[in-house]
Amino acid sequence: MSPFEYAPAPESRAVVDIASSYGLYIGGQFVEATGGAPFKTVNPATEEVLAEVSEASADDVDVAVKAARTAYTRVWSRMSGADRGKYLFRIARILQERAREFAVLETLDNGKPIKEARDVDLPLAAAHFFYHAGWADKLDHASLGPNPRPLGVVGQIVPWNFPLLMLAWKIAPALACGNTVVIKPAETTPLTALLFASVCEQAELPPGVVNIVTGAGATGQAIVDHPGIDKLAFTGSTAVGKMIARSIAGTRKKATLELGGKAANIIFDDAPIDQAVEGIVNGIFFNQGHVCCAGSRILVQESIAEELDHRLKRRLATLRVGDPMDKNTDVGAINSRKQLDRIEEMVAVGEAEGAERWDSGCALPTNGFWFRPTVFSGVSQTHRIAQEEIFGPVVSVLTFRTPAEAVAKANNTPYGLSAGIWTEKGSRILWMADQLRAGVVWANTFNKFDPTSPFGGYKESGYGREGGRHGLEAYVTSAGPYGRASEAARPQGGSR
Ligand code: NAD
Ligand code: MG
Repeated sequence: MSPFEYAPAPESRAVVDIASSYGLYIGGQFVEATGGAPFKTVNPATEEVLAEVSEASADDVDVAVKAARTAYTRVWSRMSGADRGKYLFRIARILQERAREFAVLETLDNGKPIKEARDVDLPLAAAHFFYHAGWADKLDHASLGPNPRPLGVVGQIVPWNFPLLMLAWKIAPALACGNTVVIKPAETTPLTALLFASVCEQAELPPGVVNIVTGAGATGQAIVDHPGIDKLAFTGSTAVGKMIARSIAGTRKKATLELGGKAANIIFDDAPIDQAVEGIVNGIFFNQGHVCCAGSRILVQESIAEELDHRLKRRLATLRVGDPMDKNTDVGAINSRKQLDRIEEMVAVGEAEGAERWDSGCALPTNGFWFRPTVFSGVSQTHRIAQEEIFGPVVSVLTFRTPAEAVAKANNTPYGLSAGIWTEKGSRILWMADQLRAGVVWANTFNKFDPTSPFGGYKESGYGREGGRHGLEAYVTSAGPYGRASEAARPQGGSR
């Protein structure tokens, strides 16, 4: 089936103003980095250099942590929750007002389709600030224990797949609870975080409450190792998550880790099949499959496997892959050369293991980093493409006969972040959801996010929850009835 012809519908980039180079945002102003060599961030759809960004050294991180500490002790931890909430409401409204500017910049720096940056990343980022603004003056009533108190200075490290949205997931709850932050965006996507500094200024956020340092793994490690950090919040790969857990073992630092996933999207023979196909597309081809909770394994009931295969491939042939700034584009650019290499390597492994590879055959642009929507069938549980995160537009299809077999196969990975169930039977959905070792289970839908709903994993997908009332727990300590803000003061089996 040939796709419809579309006229180009390019979004204008005139709405963003990208500087040629950026410093670090510390203590309410941009300062020059002291040590490291600056690095470039590119547009992965064109390989055009967008800007030069500073690499924060351990000394720069130290200055940022001290700025955060000063803001914490002098201003932010003393402010009433209602007043903190006003700043968060302001930030949320400014993000809404400047949504187009942020969406365009996110698409340029990350490679995701503009329709996703515009309709998913930005509305959700604003929603996270609105939601947590509402909590700021209600923490005493959130079952967080008596007199919940902030932890202090929080170090936050985010990945490149949802740069601004992950920043919002991190900063909004931390600030609502009275903490101050030092945050590091990923090295390939620092620009929306740097633009967020201007939102802090516009909101007149007190200097030092939010500090933004750029750099790669070494800068992240400097945050992890800094003795002035009270809590770490990390989203990224399981390998780095494990290193962080080792680094802070034996210290008083708390941590939440949001790591990878290898989610099963389970299709029963009574599922509405065309809706399930849309759910698969949304599950693994949204954001080029650069999604920790992506539905990267399809488990399909054997009796409908052939039909699903046919309908899925017919649908994938209509996906429009290409210029992320075109409003008709469904699948954008792979975020970096490094990630493209990783996807190509894993796909070669899948073929070598004997799985059958199919791709949509669509034309790809000549410059930039691209990968066609790809389906592997005949995958067995021991294949690496059934066990390891590929983090690209590649899905592995496995079959099952009974619900019990579906559960066993779904749970047979080191991860446990999310799962999807497609069936007409409500009782089966509830039974399955109860058996699946996954932090989020979607029924007859996939990749639905809401700030009110806690998100997080089991097993190697990490620990802690973000979002919802549960997400606040990671950012407070209960001072107990006599006001002593220490763990020891908490009653046994306390209410956190
Ligand atoms: P990564 O874990 O290396 O990067 C995530 C963040 O951690 C970045 O900001 C990075 O600079 C920082 N970082 C790297 N090394 C660090 C260290 N030693 N200490 C502190 N911070 C450090 O991920 P990646 O290399 O960009 O991607 C590799 C794989 O990770 C992907 O293929 C994918 O499977 C997975 N991944 C998962 C997520 C997710 O949302 N869970 C996001 C990105 C990548
Ligand atoms: Mg970039």
